Amino acid sequence: MKRFEGKVALITGASRGIGRGIALCLADEGADVRVNYRSHAEEAQQVAEAVTSMGRRALAWQADVSDRHAVAGMVTAAVEHFGHIDIAVANAATENHGPVIETSWEDDLRTFEVTQFGVFHTCKMCAQQMVKQVLGGRKGGKIIIISSVCAEIPVRERAAYNMSKAAINHLGRTMAVELIRYHVNVNMINPGWIDTPGERDMYGDSMIDEAGKQIPWGRLGMPEDIAKAVAYLASDDADFVTGTTLLVDGGLTLYCGDLDLTQAAD
Ligand code: NAP
Repeated sequence: MKRFEGKVALITGASRGIGRGIALCLADEGADVRVNYRSHAEEAQQVAEAVTSMGRRALAWQADVSDRHAVAGMVTAAVEHFGHIDIAVANAATENHGPVIETSWEDDLRTFEVTQFGVFHTCKMCAQQMVKQVLGGRKGGKIIIISSVCAEIPVRERAAYNMSKAAINHLGRTMAVELIRYHVNVNMINPGWIDTPGERDMYGDSMIDEAGKQIPWGRLGMPEDIAKAVAYLASDDADFVTGTTLLVDGGLTLYCGDLDLTQAAD
């Protein structure tokens, strides 16, 4: 029996990149999947079809996670369609770049609304559903937040994103404390640099193809690297793991041990 057989997973931002990788990985191990997306309907549909072709149930659902009414609608519809939610992965995010003294409030606010509040809405509403299920006799659920190494490292010109990622990790720890009595686990993953469409749009193919050389492991991460970590945290093997943050970065954050400090002021 596959380890997610009979389980339902809701994954935000699953039309592309890491979210897509998570959807396919969980489906491959038996999960039915709610594929959330914001703008790439065709890609989301393709993910849903790939899940269906593995013999699982899938439904693509458009919702902007920054809109709490849309998130509530998505959770309700998922329960109506699948009956329950066992695994929730809060993955969708956006980011704006620039020195904090120069970025516009509108751009900063959009990052907060999606990357911070979107995760808050997703986790809160999925947790409400999971607690209801536990009180009805179902086994507790798993909530996984896809955060970032930027939660810990103040990468320059990403103030709103860094702040949001730090905030959602603390949200996750707080929810882990509150939900432990229901045996609903809440854990975070801090990915390093992962090769996704979003990164390629931002940096261009040539820079992404070169960037792997800077990572101690010798390559960028792939969505599958994060998906496998999600699968562990979503599985029964992680029943005793809650409130933790798993770093999946190919040694990226070990790199500072190699830094030439004579360049530090640069
Ligand atoms: P990506 O390739 O840009 O894909 C982003 C996904 O999120 C898409 O499916 C997109 O949907 C969805 N999305 C964006 N805004 C949304 C919104 N308001 N409501 C619902 N869905 C929304 O991103 P990624 O690189 O896979 O990143 C996924 C997660 O990993 C993010 O939390 C990111 O911060 C984190 N992360 C990534 C890296 C990296 O190097 N890639 C590193 C650290 C952390 P549509 O395309 O349909 O609009």
